Formats: sequence, C-alpha cells, structure tokens
Amino acid sequence: MQPGQVTFAGSGPGDPDLLTVKALKALQQADVILHDRLVSDEILQLAGPSAALQDVGKEGFGPQVTQQEICGRMVALAKSGLRVLRLKAGDPAIFARLDEELTACDLAGIGYNVIPGITSASAAVANIGQSLTQRGRNASVRFLTGHDMKGFADHDWATLARAGEVAAIYMGKKSARFIQGRLIMHGAERNTPVTIVENASRPNQRILETTLDKLPDDLADAGFDSPALTLFGLAPRASLAALTDLKLEQA
Ligand code: SAH
Repeated sequence: MQPGQVTFAGSGPGDPDLLTVKALKALQQADVILHDRLVSDEILQLAGPSAALQDVGKEGFGPQVTQQEICGRMVALAKSGLRVLRLKAGDPAIFARLDEELTACDLAGIGYNVIPGITSASAAVANIGQSLTQRGRNASVRFLTGHDMKGFADHDWATLARAGEVAAIYMGKKSARFIQGRLIMHGAERNTPVTIVENASRPNQRILETTLDKLPDDLADAGFDSPALTLFGLAPRASLAALTDLKLEQA
C-alpha cells in the first residue's frame, strides 16, 4: 500500500479463511481502515496493531454515516498521507457503491487500487452444494438487489420467470413478498425452489429451503435477522439437504 492512497478491498462473506492474501496484506499494512458494518469481527482482528478502525456502516439503528461523509473522510485521510483501506463486505464491486467512492478519489486526485473479494452469492451456493450456472439449465445468472434508492427494485421479471433461471438476490428479505408476486404474475412456477442462506460462511450460518409459493411466509417464520442471500431457482443438493439447519416440512 502507498501512503496517500486508498485501497478498496472486499472482505469476503465473513469467514476469515475466505479473505484473499492480498486483502490480508492490506489489513496488516493500513494506517486506517474504514469498514462497513457487515465486515466480520474475525476479519477486523487481522488488522495490524497500529491500524485505526473506523466503522462507517450505513445500515442498522446506530448513527448513520452518509455516503458523502464516507467519501469526505476517506479523501481527507488519504490527503494527510495515510495508507487508507476501504474494506467492504463480499466483493467491493457488487452492490457496494464502489463507483461513488472511486469518483471521489478521482476528483481529489488520489490514487487507488481495488482488491476483489468473494461475494456472498458465491459463498451461499458453495454451502448448498450448488452451482450458479449449469449446462442445460441456465447459461446466465443474475445478481439482483431486492431494493434500490426508490424502494423495491424492478427487474426483468418475465425473463426470470422462465424455467431454469437462477438469480442471487441481495438485500432480498424485505422485498420477498414483492418479488414473489412479480414472478408469479409473470408466470413463474409456484414450486420453483428458493434457498435463503443467512450469514453465509459464518459459524452461525442458517439455510432455509423453500419454494416461491411459500417464500414470504417461511422467511417470516424463520425470523432471519442477519444478512441473508436469496438463491432463486436453487435448492440445496439432495445429499446436503438432510444437513440443513432449518428444513421445512413439505405441505
Ligand atoms: N458487496 C457485498 C454485498 C453488499 S449488499 C457482496 O459482494 O456480498 C449487502 C447484502 O449482501 C446483504 O443484505 C445480504 O443480502 C448480502 N450478504 C452480505 N454478506 C452476507 C453473508 N455473509 N451471508 C449472506 N448474505 C450476505
């Protein structure tokens, strides 16, 4: 890491063993680490002894740090000659507002580099023994967000509703009923498998196996209160299903 520059890195889904070696080196070299709320404690503990940790998490019930404040703080720290690590959960290029922060660096004339991370969708499928794409089933996969700045996010529901489609839905808990309604309206089979993986790769990971039909109700019953990834179109591999923590009885 260079003094006066910002390194953007993904921390992966939470398991410290899923951190890249490059991100680990950055954690050890940084003078200051601006991290999101979802970066796990085990990973923050890998920071060098003199690194200052600053939580700039944008969600939750604590005081909110705005995106503008994050950019301002990041730029000021870099300008003061520090090695700044901007650590984001998963991959920094997926639903993490990376571009806004890169633009802030550009405008301030600050150099940067980006270290990718393992996104939570990859961790989630790994732990249900499935693949995001499969020959003969789906030749493409979508990464969707459940909501955007305007509320529940709209997508190409008609395409998604076709048999065999797979989508990794981020931030999809609150919007589960909306997504279910849109997909069924566009002709999706009600028994399409849906799997929700909460705390993927962490010791407290939980897996909910359900169908599109029962998604919102099963999700409400499960009471998930941590980050969760919704895998539309995928059920846990049969040999693993017996191991899932939360397997719902078929109606
Ligand atoms: N950049 C991140 C995504 C940030 S958006 C990534 O690549 O994973 C935040 C959303 O990511 C959460 O609402 C949740 O849907 C998902 N998420 C992040 N970490 C997760 C984890 N360990 N398990 C399940 N979902 C996770």
